[in-house]
Amino acid sequence: MANKQDIINPSTGEIISSVPTASEQDVLSAIGSARDAFDNGPWPRISLKERKEFLLKISRGILDKAQDLAKLESLNTGKPIKETTFMDMPSAAKTFAHFADNLEEYLKSQSLELENARSKILREPQGVVVLIVPWNYPLLIASWKMAAALAAGNTVILKPSSLTPLSALELAKISDEAGLPKGVVNIINGNGDKLGKVLCAEKRVDMISFTGSNIVGKKIIGYASENVKKLIMELGGKSASIILKDADLELAVNGSLCSIFLNQGQMCTAMSRILVEDDIYEEFVSDFTARTKRIKLGDSLDYETQMGPLISEEQRSKVMSYVDKAKVEGAKLLCGGKIPADEKLKKGFFFEPAVFSDVPPEMSIFREEVFGPVACINKFSTLDEAVTLANKSEFALASSIWTKDAALAQDLAGKICSGISWINTYGMFYNEAPYGGFKQSGFGKELGREGFLEYTRLKNVIEDKTEGAKPLVNYWYGF
Ligand code: NAD
Repeated sequence: MANKQDIINPSTGEIISSVPTASEQDVLSAIGSARDAFDNGPWPRISLKERKEFLLKISRGILDKAQDLAKLESLNTGKPIKETTFMDMPSAAKTFAHFADNLEEYLKSQSLELENARSKILREPQGVVVLIVPWNYPLLIASWKMAAALAAGNTVILKPSSLTPLSALELAKISDEAGLPKGVVNIINGNGDKLGKVLCAEKRVDMISFTGSNIVGKKIIGYASENVKKLIMELGGKSASIILKDADLELAVNGSLCSIFLNQGQMCTAMSRILVEDDIYEEFVSDFTARTKRIKLGDSLDYETQMGPLISEEQRSKVMSYVDKAKVEGAKLLCGGKIPADEKLKKGFFFEPAVFSDVPPEMSIFREEVFGPVACINKFSTLDEAVTLANKSEFALASSIWTKDAALAQDLAGKICSGISWINTYGMFYNEAPYGGFKQSGFGKELGREGFLEYTRLKNVIEDKTEGAKPLVNYWYGF
């Protein structure tokens, strides 16, 4: 009998479902099924128009079930229902539609006329692609990966986080209802450490697209090296926001609140380091702190909720230990940073959003990814100082710049080491534009043409065109 695992609602600590967990043998069967579907099945061979239609059906399937999916995602992750309803679900559907609509254009071959030859450069699918996703955006990140991988003609094995498998299981049903051929989409649920090596070292897997922590990313790079695989690594972050004295303060404060407190701060692109020019520092800190105190914590299914619980008790303890350490090390805690006293929140994994000021850059809270609602605000007096502070990180995923000076903002964006820079905004993702970080934040892109092409491999077919049909190779041994 299959092993089962309880799934918890982080708002209440209650069990909401129980799902089967895969054994190592199940992983091998899933790889076998994806391999067979790729090598012998119709998916990589059907016309691009047919593939497009299948993906559009998945997109419509997500939209048809969007309300239920949003509720399920909120129940399972603790993410406020407003976020899952208005952001995660429509975005996931749009990503499938985007890759459906653009796959023909993205897969176009190129021809090169060379001196004595003609080269045709073809885009082929990678083959069997393992997609490993985290718990913070379970359906959205799965959709980014799955839509691009399928559009390119690959077959996939999706492994959701064992904390949040429910929406991925629904996505598998939607793919099935869309009529995708057998073996094209496979889902494996279970503990990553137990299944990871079998899943990622196997010869029959061609590519691994991973989003998650650095620790796990490094393990996967190790497994994948056994049989040399193509990798995408979307890892952690410790992003910085720079707020200049000429910024629209209201906008900068609101944007900064979103940038660290949406999804309870459990975002890889969270702006956990907020750097403010000294002329406006006091005003910014006072406004930001006052508004943080007003954030309404509550059950994820309540439309009034602005901040839900953290994903688990373990995650809350981890966040709490960072806060405790920062206090001991001398950072100034301006608000929050504790378990709320409200009786209604007692059973969930709630945590009051914390604001620290005067955090020396050497402190662990300034350097390490907390992955929770903890903001560090520091002041700077010159632009060089701001750039140096922003770049003082092993990570390089995202940054935000708040100023009315458009040219200066562009100049700063060029100087900050990060894969994405937002100017006077935060968290805008577009299916058309690539997303991904540098340094310890990983490599490879998601979304856009560049993200799509990661799921393809380039083949170069060279045809001799020597005049008189006397191929060059004749001159070596042809006499
Ligand atoms: P995690 O690394 O613990 O887990 C991610 C996935 O890897 C899960 O599915 C997990 O089951 C699996 N896994 C765990 N051990 C494994 C192993 N040994 N082999 C193979 N798979 C294994 O990350 P998490 O806690 O789920 O998510 C939080 C992390 O994800 C944060 O570090 C965050 O920054 C990062 N993240 C990055 C991005 C990005 O785009 N760069 C986006 C979202 C989250």
